[in-house]
Parts: sequence; C-alpha cells; structure tokens
Amino acid sequence: MSHAERIRAAVDFKEPDRVPMFDSMNWSVNMAGKNLDLIGQKIKDVSFPKWVNNPDIFVESQIRALDRFDHDFVHSRMSSHILAEPMGCKEVEPYWAVPATVKTAINKAEDWKNLKFPDMDKDGKIPTQLTAIRMLDKELHEKRGDDVFITGFVRGAFTLAGIVLGVETLMLEMIDKPDETRELIDFCNDVSIECIKAQFDAGADHIYTPDPSASGDLISAKFYHNFALPAAQKQSAAIRKYKDKYAHHYHICGNTKDRWDDLAEIGASYVSLDYVIDLKEAKEDIGQKIAIAGNLTPAGTLLLGTPEKVEEEGKQMIKDAAPGGGFIYWTGCDWPIDCPLENVDKFFEVPKVYGKYPIDL
Ligand SMILES: [Zn+2]
Repeated sequence: MSHAERIRAAVDFKEPDRVPMFDSMNWSVNMAGKNLDLIGQKIKDVSFPKWVNNPDIFVESQIRALDRFDHDFVHSRMSSHILAEPMGCKEVEPYWAVPATVKTAINKAEDWKNLKFPDMDKDGKIPTQLTAIRMLDKELHEKRGDDVFITGFVRGAFTLAGIVLGVETLMLEMIDKPDETRELIDFCNDVSIECIKAQFDAGADHIYTPDPSASGDLISAKFYHNFALPAAQKQSAAIRKYKDKYAHHYHICGNTKDRWDDLAEIGASYVSLDYVIDLKEAKEDIGQKIAIAGNLTPAGTLLLGTPEKVEEEGKQMIKDAAPGGGFIYWTGCDWPIDCPLENVDKFFEVPKVYGKYPIDL
C-alpha cells in the first residue's frame, strides 16, 4: 500500500498493510546538515532558526527523515504558533528550540478588533512555510510520485486565542466577558482558516491542529463544550471543505477523558491523545467513534528511555489500539528534539515489525 492508502484505510476503520506512522515533527531538525552526528551536543551544524528560515534546508531534512524512517507523513511546522507573530505577538527564536511567543498581542478579549489579520503571502514565517509545502509537493508528489501526506499546521483557534491574549487572561475572560471572548476565538478561527486554505493551495494534504489550551488540565469539560468545541468544529468543517475527510489531525494534550464525546464530534479525521491516556481504554470508548493516534511517552521513554523500552511501549500501543484499524502510531505529544537516534530508529521500526495486519500480539 502507498502512504496515503494506508492512512485513508486507518481513518476508515479498515485494516491497512501496516499501522500508519505520523512523523518526527521538530525532532527532524536533527536530519538537517550534519546535525545527526551532534545529537546531545550544544553546538549544532544547523541551528533551529536556520532550519525554520531556510526552506531548502528544511525540505531536505524532511526528505532525509522520510527516506530513513518511511513514516507516512512529512511536516512543515516553522514555529510553535505560526500565526501569533503576524497577529501582533512577539516571538523569539532560540538557538535550539522551536520559536515561541513571549509577549501577547492584546490584554483584553474585546481588543480582538485591534489584531492584525495576517497577509499569508507576506507576514512572519507563513510564506516560508508555504514555500516549504510547495517544495515538498513538487519533490515528493510530482517528481517521486510518492503520495506521502504533507502536513500543514495551525493551532486550534481556542489555543491561538490564548496565545494572542495570554492563557490566564483567556481563562478569566471566558467568565467575565463570554461574548467578547467568543468574538476573539472566532477572529482567530477566521485567520486560521485562511491559513489552512493557503496551505492546501500550496500542496498540503492534511492539517495538524494541536489545541493544548483546551486540555482538561486547563479548562473544564463544560468550558470545552461551550468555547473550544464550536471553534474546533468550524475549523474542521473548513478543512473538509477545502480538502477531504482525511485531512484533519486534531491533537489535544493532557487528560481528556471527560470530553471524549465532544472530541468525537469535532469532525476531525482522527484525534491524537496524550501519553497520560490509557490507549486500551480510549480504543474501547472514543476509539469506536473516531480514529485515534498516539501515544508513546515523549520524555520518559523516547528521550530518556532505551530502545528496549521504546519497543515494549510501542508494541503495547499496537496491541491495545491497532486491531480493526482506526489507529495511527505516534508519540503522546510533542517530540523532545534531543531524543537519541537509536530510540527514534526503534520507534519507527516497531510498526514495521509488530504493526503488520492482521495484528498478532
Ligand atoms: Zn500535546
């Protein structure tokens, strides 16, 4: 099966040839230049800012990662919050970490009217990301005839609102100024949807929309239902409209058990769950309604564990969630970028050994 066939089968709850694998995200900075020889060392051949600001270097690293690991997706994330800086936040670019916002754009929800609606062709790192997507499309889809899913990226609108306003202020404003807060989230959603369209136009197959501020660690199920869910549904509907029913990866961090019914109603192709979630329990519940992805422990196992531990946990994930399809193999949240290569190699080897259908574990 091709990469895309494998993903589509899993989303449709059919059993593909093997469990599909999401990509190595920001860890793939280690595939740039001579970085692979420098894992764990302070000085790198290609720094993080150099990687995210140079589409040639970025795209080459994605192709190297694809050739080495044969995962079913490649990535195009240039920042933690690709839209926040162009909307007015201040962003920093550390030498060896994902660019992050350090200053909000507004202090009150009602000030959303002062936010800038970014120009997708000009502002911040958006054009760089779009260039990278176009290059990946040309190199992988056109030249190689490889239908690997090129993944675009925006945040969930609720999370983006928390970045431009500040997460703590957003929490308070939901109580004090619910209408203005909804307008802010709506504006963030409109921006994100415009960016999603631009990424599809550039050649993306699929959009990854992490929504960590909507986690059970930050808001109750009731607030999720009233504020974050409608935004996620609107975003997901736009993704379906501009692409298809396979194009939306919704991620949410932390414990989400109390909102699984809502997560199943977003309209996403699949939902990736945090490592704190028991995958067997998830498979028996939300995993009956929507495909799920996850959830190897990023820090404890992938960064600090051994290849044996990666194998043990990865195998268990496949045993718990892969039978019957509806499962994409991944980590339980963002990748720590210093994960040793031997663990990463093992991570992507596990589905090729134990994830062949029919699953026999
Ligand atoms: Zn997460």
